[in-house]
Amino acid sequence: MRYVSTRGQAPVFDFAGVLLAGLAEDGGLYVPESWPSFSPAEIRALRGLPYPELVAAIMAPFVGDAIPDFRRLCADAYAGFDHPAVVPLVQLETGLFVQELFHGPTLAFKDLALQLVGRLFERVLGAERLTIVGATSGDTGAAAIEALKGRSGIAIAILHPEGRVSEVQRRQMTTVLAPNVENIAVRGSFDDCQDLVKSMFADAEFRHAMRLSAVNSINWARIAAQIPYYFAAALSLGAPDREVAFSVPTGNFGNILAAWAAARMGLPVARLVVACNRNDILARFLAANDMSIRPVEPSLSPSMDIQVSSNFERLLFELLDRDPAAVAPIVTGFRRDGRMAVPEAAWTRMRALFQGFSLDDAGTEAEIARLHRVSGYLADPHSAIGIAAAREAMLAASVDRAVPMIAAATAHPAKFAPAVAHASGVSPALPARLADLYQRPERCTVAENSLPAVEALVAAVAERATRVGIAA
Ligand SMILES: *Cc1c(COP(=O)(O)O)cnc(C)c1O
Repeated sequence: MRYVSTRGQAPVFDFAGVLLAGLAEDGGLYVPESWPSFSPAEIRALRGLPYPELVAAIMAPFVGDAIPDFRRLCADAYAGFDHPAVVPLVQLETGLFVQELFHGPTLAFKDLALQLVGRLFERVLGAERLTIVGATSGDTGAAAIEALKGRSGIAIAILHPEGRVSEVQRRQMTTVLAPNVENIAVRGSFDDCQDLVKSMFADAEFRHAMRLSAVNSINWARIAAQIPYYFAAALSLGAPDREVAFSVPTGNFGNILAAWAAARMGLPVARLVVACNRNDILARFLAANDMSIRPVEPSLSPSMDIQVSSNFERLLFELLDRDPAAVAPIVTGFRRDGRMAVPEAAWTRMRALFQGFSLDDAGTEAEIARLHRVSGYLADPHSAIGIAAAREAMLAASVDRAVPMIAAATAHPAKFAPAVAHASGVSPALPARLADLYQRPERCTVAENSLPAVEALVAAVAERATRVGIAA
C-alpha cells in the first residue's frame, strides 16, 4: 500500500515511510492511496478470531510486506491487556452496548494503537535511532511512554504542564524509570508545552541532530490500528448480516475517523455519532456547516478539550472526492480565519452518516449518576458522554430499532476517579496491576518554560538511550 498526502504536495510513501514521517511535509496528513475493501463473505470469515489475529487480518492491506513478522507483533502488543477479549462488549440496555477500550496498560483507548505502533517503530528503525517528543495533557503521554519504554533505538521525552495533569495520569508517566524515558514538567500551561514541542521541530539543526519524530494521532499507523476494534464489535453483533451504529466521544477526530474507515472498508455501519463535551465545534459544524473556533474551555473530559480536530482533514479529503486541490484552500483558510464551511454537497454527504451531539459537565455528571443507578455501570466522563449521545440518537423517530448501538468507552473510570466519585458516590478502584501506583517511585525533571532548557533535557535522554544500548 502507498500513502498520499491530503494536500497532494508531499512525497508518496509506503507503510514504513508514513509510520516514521507522521505529518506530511506539505502540512497535510497521509491517507492510503486507495481503500482496501472486505466483501461480506470475507467479513464473515473473520468471526471468532482472537483479537490479535483480527488486527493482523484487518491491517494486512495497510502494512503490506513492510513488516514480515506483523502477526507476531500483534500477538505481543495485546498480550498485556487485562481482559481476554481485549475489547469486550457490555450490554447496558436493549439495543445499547458499550465497547470497553480501556483494558490496556494505561487505562485509555490510546493503548490499543500505541502498544502496536511502539513495536512497529522499533521494527522499522532497525539499527537507526529516533527521539520522540510530545506534549500531553494526560492520556497520550502515558500511553506513548508505556509503549516505548525500553525499546531499542528510541528515546522519548514527554512534556506536561507542571501540576496540571491528574495524579493518576502523572504517576502513569513518572513511575516509568526506563533510561530512554524523560518526563519534563514544564512551569507553564499545556499550550506552552505544545509551543515548546513545535519550536523543537522548527529548530532544524536540533531536529536533524536528534532525529525528532512524534506519535500524535496524525500518524496514520495509529488510525489504522484503531479500525479493527470496530470490526470486532460489529462481528459479535452479527455483521456483516446486520448493521450497527457507533457513538464515539471525540476530540481530535481520530477514533471516529477509524470507525468511518471501517465502514469505508465494507463494514455495514448505519450511523456514526460524534459525541462532544462543551467544546462542541464538531457538533456545531454538523448542525450548521459552520466550523468556527471558540476558546477551549476546561471540562471533566479533558481529553476532548479540543477546538481544532486535526484528523477531520482526512474525512474532508474523502468528502471532496480525494481532490487535494480542493482540500488545501479550505484547511489553510481555517487556520487563518478560525472558521470554515465546506461545499454544501460534501456537508450533506457527511450528515447522511454522521450525527453530532454535545454535553456539558452537569449533563456528564448526571449521566454518570444515572448509569450507575439504573445498571450499576461506572463510566468515566468521556465514556459517559458517548453513552448519553448514543441514547439520544436511539430516541429519534426515524431510527431502525433492529440496529444495535455501540458506545465507545475510552477510559477506565479509575483514571478519572474524583469526577466519577463526585457524580456517583462510588470511588472506582484501580485494576490490581496498578494498585501500588501511589507507592511507586517517580522520576521527573521540572523545567522552566524555555527552549534551551528543554532541548538540553531531550538531548540528555537521547544520549542516555544510546549509551545503555536500550535493548539489553
Ligand atoms: C484521546 C481521548 C479521546 C478523544 O479521542 P480522539 O481520537 O482524539 O477523538 C476521548 N476519550 C479519551 C479518554 C481519550 O484519551
